[in-house]
Order: sequence, then C-alpha cells, then structure tokens
Amino acid sequence: MITRRSFLSMAGASALARPAFAFRSAQSAAPTIDAARLRNRLERLSTHGRPFGGTFADGVNRVAYSVADLTARAWVIDEIKGMDVVPRLDAAGNIFARFGGQPNQPAILVGSHIDSVPTGGNFDGDLGTFAAFEVIQAIQKAKIQTRHPIEMAVWAHEESTAFGIGTAASRIVAGDLQAGDMDKVWNGMKRSDAIRRIAGNPDQIETAIRGKGTWHSYVELHIEQGGTLDQARIPIGIVEGIVAIHRYDVVIVGQVNHAGTTPMNERHDAMVAAAALTLGVNEIATRRQGRQVGTVGRIEIEPNSPNVIPGRATLSVEFRDLSEQVLRELGDALKARGAAIAQGTGTTITVELASTNVPAMATSGVQAAIGRAAEAAGLKTMRLPSGAGHDAQQIAKIAPMGMIFVPSVGGISHSPKELTTWEDCARGADVLLRTVLELDQRDSV
Ligand SMILES: [Zn+2]
Repeated sequence: MITRRSFLSMAGASALARPAFAFRSAQSAAPTIDAARLRNRLERLSTHGRPFGGTFADGVNRVAYSVADLTARAWVIDEIKGMDVVPRLDAAGNIFARFGGQPNQPAILVGSHIDSVPTGGNFDGDLGTFAAFEVIQAIQKAKIQTRHPIEMAVWAHEESTAFGIGTAASRIVAGDLQAGDMDKVWNGMKRSDAIRRIAGNPDQIETAIRGKGTWHSYVELHIEQGGTLDQARIPIGIVEGIVAIHRYDVVIVGQVNHAGTTPMNERHDAMVAAAALTLGVNEIATRRQGRQVGTVGRIEIEPNSPNVIPGRATLSVEFRDLSEQVLRELGDALKARGAAIAQGTGTTITVELASTNVPAMATSGVQAAIGRAAEAAGLKTMRLPSGAGHDAQQIAKIAPMGMIFVPSVGGISHSPKELTTWEDCARGADVLLRTVLELDQRDSV
C-alpha cells in the first residue's frame, strides 16, 4: 500500500505536461480515474430521457421527478451498489454514499446532479456526478486510506424547470426550507408528492437539513456552460464564486398617441425610451473592466399596436457579478441613465430593485487545492466566476466550497449540442480526484 504522501510526491514529480488520466504505470498503484468507465456511464445515463429513436447526440429530457429521472435514479443507485458502498437517500431524495476515512472525521463531499432541462445535453451535472464515482473507485482501487471519508452526492433537483425552483434539493440540505414549500404545485403535482415519487419523505423533510461542520469541504466538477475556457484553450477553470444577481423592474410611461398625426418632435414614445435604455444597459455592463453582465430579458409594450405610439413599457433588467459593490455601481448607473433618457424622451422612468441575492464565494483554500491539483497534473488553469447557478452555491452556506470547470465546446449548454470532449471530461475528473487527496491532508480549509 502507498501512503497519501508518497502518492502526492510521486504524482507531482511524474505528471508534468502529460494528462494525468493517462498516468498509469504498471509498477505504481497510484489512484487514477478510469476515463473509459466515465465515458461509458455518461453514455448509459443518456439513454434515460433520450428522444424516441434518437442517439447520444440528441441529448436528454430528464426533468426532475419525470419517468426518465426515476429510471435514471434507479440505475444510478444500482451502479453505486456495484461499487461496494451503500447508497443512502435523504428526505429530499438526494442520494449519498460514503467510503473510507476515520470515523471521527467529517467527510469530503463531491457530486453534482442528473436532472436536466427539457432540452438538456449529456454533460450538465452528469459529468460531476460520475466524476464523483470515479474519485471513490480510484481511491478504492489504489487502496489509499484517506483520513476523511469521501462522500458523494447526487442532488435530486437542480434545474429550475420543476416547480420553478433551481438547486431545490441542495437548498433544503443547506437549511433553506420555508413553510408551504411542500405544497407548491407544478404540472398538476404537489411538491410533496414529487418528492415521494423519488422515494424522499416530505413529512420529515427537515431531517434532510445538514448543519455547518457536517462536511470538511465540498467540491463540484461541472462543465463551464459558457465559452471562456474553450476560447482561451484552457482545460481547467477554478471557480472564484457563483455570481449574485440584482434584478430591476423598470416602468416607462409616455403618451399614447396617433402614429400618423403626431409630429416627431411632439412624441413621448415609451418604446423609444425602452430601446435607449436597453442599449444603455449593454453599454453600462460593457464599458468597465471585469466580467459583469447586464441583460434586458423581458419587455412589454402597451398598447402594442402598429398605428399607436407606445405609451407604456415594462422592462426587466438584471446585472450579475461576484462583487456586490460592482452590482451597486451598475444599479446606480442604470438609474442615472434612466433619468437622462426620461428627460430626453419626455417620459417618466422608474427603476426599482426587484430582487437581489448574495454571491456564493468559493473558499480560497479549496481554490488553492484545485490549483495545486491541476499543476500536479500539468494542466493550465484560469480563475473565473460562474454565471450559472449550481448546487455548490447552496452547500457553500454550510461547508467550504470549490468548483472545477471544464470547457464547453462553443460555450453551448442546456441544449443537445452541449459538448465537452472526453479528454476534457477525464482531465476534470482527474483534477477532482487530486483535489480531494489534497484536501484530505488538511484538518480544515
Ligand atoms: Zn448543472
């Protein structure tokens, strides 16, 4: 048997400049992920929710609590049983399994989700889920005794398709459970019945809540779902955090009037003001350094008639960034721009902050562990924010959190065209494995 320390020095010395998933020498039993098995599992999972008569390239519709989700979960549970670990369900329907470690130590948690959007691809969530399997199986095969148990999670309900709530099952685990949550109805189904469908227990849903200290740390491997890594040709992203969203409701009031008889200089056109504000949001988000984004995603015009000058426009504006300071400044700029456009167009514009949330920062110690792991594997890294939500943002409330991103070809996701090369999948799983072994050396991060 080799110790953790000897493995890590071995890995550090030998793995430079070649992908560590290919790092397999006959004389060492260093833990390696099995890239072929990872691919095979991703391909087999893809049959659950595949369009009739389709192939892997046609993606999946595996919305949480659907029949496809149920059959996929049953298959995943069978796979776990085949790994010599015992699957356990919590009251929210999350699937856990743990391996090894000293009994008095908190577990290092790895995992992701297998539910999809209706037009889903084969990598969002799935990759991180089966990479977690690989971490446990690699450690088992190499007969490494980790100090901390290694636990994997398959979060039950990540996409917001079902019940309009994203990261819904990990949210419960993190303690965000409101009265009436179980009574929400979607698709004619009560949420409590949906959770029953996946063998959860809505009557004791609060038993799924886990406190701080439950886990040593949480690391999630995920596809980027954007094009930054792909464009930069960098295989590993170290996520700095999951961005916060500040959303605004904007109402523009002008003057409804005849589109034929009203001269151009006598108009108070709400549509013209809305168009100027939309361009303004784009300009506000673009003109400063950084990765902030701004979007006008919804606009309603009244009366919306070809021969009437629009009298009223309602817009939704959102800004996303890791920094709340930046978000506040973007909001101030939006209000200033609104005031200027109102004056210029003879309209009134009200800008109201409709909702905010806080960014979920990745723990610096976990980011550093990912960096060391990638370096040992000879892989280039880039630090970047996550613009999409993930279960990791919930678990960040109760445990030190980190995320590893791998490139999405063309930045496409939530589409059957979603693609991450098998090489990049394997690299990500390998960095996840190495990160877990790095973290295992530390009492806390
Ligand atoms: Zn996902």
